[in-house]
Amino acid sequence: MSNAETDLAPTAVPLTTLSEDEDLFRDTVRQFAQQSIGPLVSQMDEEQHFTNGLISQLFNLGLMGIEIPAEYGGSGGTFFEAILAVEQLSRVDPSVGVLVDVQNTLCVNALLRWGTDEQKKHYLSRLATDTIGAYALSEAASGSDAFALQTRADKRGEHYVLNGQKLWITNAKEAGLFIVFATVDAAAGYKGITAFLVDKNASGFSIGKKENKLGIRASSTCELIFEDCRVPAKHVLGEVGKGYKIAIETLNEGRIGIGAQMLGLASGAWGHAAEYAKERKQFGKPIAEFQAVQFSLAEMATEIEAARLLVYNAARLKDAGLPFLKEAAMAKYYASMVAERVASQAVEIYGGYGFVKDYPVEKYYRDAKIGKIYEGTSNMQLATIAKLVLAEGGHSRT
Ligand SMILES: Cc1cc2nc3c(=O)[nH]c(=O)nc-3n(C[C@H](O)[C@H](O)[C@H](O)COP(=O)(O)OP(=O)(O)OC[C@H]3O[C@@H](n4cnc5c(N)ncnc54)[C@H](O)[C@@H]3O)c2cc1C
Repeated sequence: MSNAETDLAPTAVPLTTLSEDEDLFRDTVRQFAQQSIGPLVSQMDEEQHFTNGLISQLFNLGLMGIEIPAEYGGSGGTFFEAILAVEQLSRVDPSVGVLVDVQNTLCVNALLRWGTDEQKKHYLSRLATDTIGAYALSEAASGSDAFALQTRADKRGEHYVLNGQKLWITNAKEAGLFIVFATVDAAAGYKGITAFLVDKNASGFSIGKKENKLGIRASSTCELIFEDCRVPAKHVLGEVGKGYKIAIETLNEGRIGIGAQMLGLASGAWGHAAEYAKERKQFGKPIAEFQAVQFSLAEMATEIEAARLLVYNAARLKDAGLPFLKEAAMAKYYASMVAERVASQAVEIYGGYGFVKDYPVEKYYRDAKIGKIYEGTSNMQLATIAKLVLAEGGHSRT
């Protein structure tokens, strides 16, 4: 062994090794997901909303404020624990996964980083106990080109007056707090973008059409309408004109959460496919005894493991305060690809039964598609990765 290797060895811990606390946390969330969410999944998908009482259970378990410090009533956990929670919930229902993901990796995260003491006291204590957050950046004409947004915020004395519409906003039906991006000066381009904390009951604010979706159907996705919506100036999050920075930085972290959602989804679909393959008999024996089926399950398991390493590494880098931008984009890009492939293979392993709603895998297949779209499409992830690896040039680890 070279000196360089021996120097590294004492501190190098395998990425998937969990601390005692992380292990306990993961098992608790996994058990809750299987026992309390599992029986509701199909009905929630059909009815397109979360069963009454489920959200309060998530609050009671501390899953809606994982990183919120104990002084505000939160769990005082790590970003990595938020990632573990999203993964475990998404194994059973990726809709519940994204609810918890947006709350923790976007809303709580943005307030922790940019909130004033007063804002933290007021909003973090609510987010930890009974209030769901939503994160409103996208509009009808600005998706990938997010900073071309048109929602305006005009200063009137001690208030801003918001006018415009947001589209595709996750958690909108259930949320009490919305982080809304609007421009205070359209001529200033991205430098006019400002983040506002908007209460559900703010005058001039309403929830518009709820989308009827292909997948993650229990999760609400709605239009937001601002018609002379009055927001106190003290509800600006961070600095006026620095909303673009908040959006970029929270989404950099949020996409590790989507990687975790897709990882959980893939591992849930794999589990069902493996069980089914052991039970289903054709030609007088379980289909799991056919090499073709074994190889398919082996390939899926390998891809899931690779996705897990990418997601965990990005999350651990973030918690360690190290650069993680490239790793986060790779984790989201790769995990969403694996989720789609694994869910598709799971449907095939189930044969005809995979194609009907009486069995669980068709839902994973539908739910997987969103991973390549939200929080930056796969093309946008590739653009980020390309920019970073090309800039690394000859010094790249790639
Ligand atoms: C279910 C759901 C939930 C969502 N939740 C939220 C939310 O909570 N908050 C929020 O703000 N938004 C949310 N979104 C919006 C989501 O982030 C956008 O849909 C996404 O960013 C893509 O934008 P778009 O739909 O306008 O597609 P477009 O940007 O129009 O992209 C269309 C296609 O063109 C490609 N493309 C665009 N530009 C380029 C380029 N420069 N190079 C290469 N290819 C390019 C894209 O990759 C894509 O394939 C959600 C969307 C959905 C469907």
